[in-house]
Amino acid sequence: MCNFCNGTHVMKDDNGPLAFFVTCPVCGPKSAEVLEADRKERLRRLEEARAKFKKEAV
Ligand SMILES: [Zn+2]
Repeated sequence: MCNFCNGTHVMKDDNGPLAFFVTCPVCGPKSAEVLEADRKERLRRLEEARAKFKKEAV
């Protein structure tokens, strides 16, 4: 795993009053596969939250 970004492909650059997220200089930007996996994971979590909400609403 990359020591700069811990495999996230982004690093927090907080050398100033504003914090920026910058692409990791070692790993480069996220690949399309990684972005797609991220998207699917987010959707999955959203569905989980929705199912939980439905259960609690009844
Ligand atoms: Zn990296």
